[in-house]
Amino acid sequence: MDENLQFFDSHAHLDDEKFNTDREKLIPEIYNSGITKFVSCGYNVESSLKAIELSKKYSYIYCTVGISPNDLSTEYEREVEKVERILKNELNKDSKIVAIGEIGLDYHYDIDRNWQKNAFIKQIEIANKFNLPIVIHTREAVMDTIEILKQHPVNKKGIFHCCPFNRELIKEALNIGFYISIAGPITFKNSKNAEEIANLIPLDKMLIETDSPYLAPEPVRGTRNDPRNVKYTAQKIAEFRNMNIAEIAKATYNNAKTIFSIE
Ligand SMILES: [Zn+2]
Repeated sequence: MDENLQFFDSHAHLDDEKFNTDREKLIPEIYNSGITKFVSCGYNVESSLKAIELSKKYSYIYCTVGISPNDLSTEYEREVEKVERILKNELNKDSKIVAIGEIGLDYHYDIDRNWQKNAFIKQIEIANKFNLPIVIHTREAVMDTIEILKQHPVNKKGIFHCCPFNRELIKEALNIGFYISIAGPITFKNSKNAEEIANLIPLDKMLIETDSPYLAPEPVRGTRNDPRNVKYTAQKIAEFRNMNIAEIAKATYNNAKTIFSIE
């Protein structure tokens, strides 16, 4: 692999406790391996604050803040208000908060769907208020996710993270001008329509991500994932599309800079 290639991991969770033992050592190693920009994504108040901290410490780490549908409790309205307060305090010309996220709908687990919809809509409103794009997590909730996005348009658009292998969703996402971020499962040997999905997303709407520490791609599947492995995902997409990995690296790097408004 070309040592001069640069990659942008659009979605990782560097605050995760699985990195507690070696985070400080690992982060510069990630950068030195060619992953020269990556985003640490928040999923509740605590992880959002940790993500901001990391973005202040390392010039090449960016962050998002938000409450994910899997992190909602009876206190969720107050938690969402905290997100707004964090932005009021932290968002300025030097800050590296690049989106609201991850937010969305997840019907896989038994979390109240009205809470989920309310929290999603409220955070879309916050994104519009602060002129930020959103990072969407959606699972088994395609139609409702699209419906909410149509009724509550996001001015700065956003990203569907961890590309759902669902043609209809990809089509709708592209229709409303969103980007789609491809994660490790595209490399899995049992992913049925991986090749089709890799070809369905236009190169100018494609991002790549690890979702670290989860979803490590082949050939390191099952291990703790970290942003260095985003290269395997890029390599697989390049194979599926009969392209050079350099083209995938470059396009996804530039797309991430565009959607996150990074100079
Ligand atoms: Zn995530």
